[in-house]
Amino acid sequence: MLKKIFEKFSTEKVDFKIFDYDLTIKKTKKKKTISIIVRNGRVIVSCPIWTVESKIKKILLSKEKWIKKNINIYTQREDIINDNKRNGIYLFKGEKVKLKYENFLIESVNYKDNYILIRTSNFSNTNVDKLLSEWLRLQATRYIRKRLKFYSDLMHIKFSNLLIKSYRSRWGSCDTKGKITINWRLIMAPPSILDYVIIHELSHIPHPNHSKTFWMHIKKYKPYYQRDANWLKENGFLLNSQFV
Ligand SMILES: [Zn+2]
Repeated sequence: MLKKIFEKFSTEKVDFKIFDYDLTIKKTKKKKTISIIVRNGRVIVSCPIWTVESKIKKILLSKEKWIKKNINIYTQREDIINDNKRNGIYLFKGEKVKLKYENFLIESVNYKDNYILIRTSNFSNTNVDKLLSEWLRLQATRYIRKRLKFYSDLMHIKFSNLLIKSYRSRWGSCDTKGKITINWRLIMAPPSILDYVIIHELSHIPHPNHSKTFWMHIKKYKPYYQRDANWLKENGFLLNSQFV
């Protein structure tokens, strides 16, 4: 109790420079509790306005391991993204592909085994990115439509509509009317991953929840679905790293 009172009224100034990471402390009237998030390698502490600095320091120290782990994951991911950019590597259906260019008046994009051929007379990054992302979206629309039809028939589950969208933080969704939405970025992932998302969303039509029965249902069509779900957790950032 005494300790609590001391903490509450302590005016001890803390030198936050002891933490060797980018730290932001947000004190707001709205917050009732203290929370820590690590976003883009930066640490953000949100806390009630009356929180004393020593308390923040204590919590940061107690979470040190978790914070460092998350900063490391971010740094490693940034390294991979930068390596890919430096080496001109793009992802298409899980394959690492490079771009080849041809000077041509009529613009087109074509996939040739292990590279993507871009024909254009405007080689600026913005134009190449635009051509490539439009082409990928088109490939995604065609491929997702085909795979959804395949699984809808196989699983005997009817959907009402398909929407291909650009999500930042989700891979797919399914509403109560059976409308399925899939993130076009999945065209960059291995086909097995896209299949998993399709099966997942289709399974939501008979099971609009994440119950045990729902997962059992997925398992019938994708026995190793956990592997795909893990792939998305670990590598999903790659699909978001290109074409903002
Ligand atoms: Zn779900």
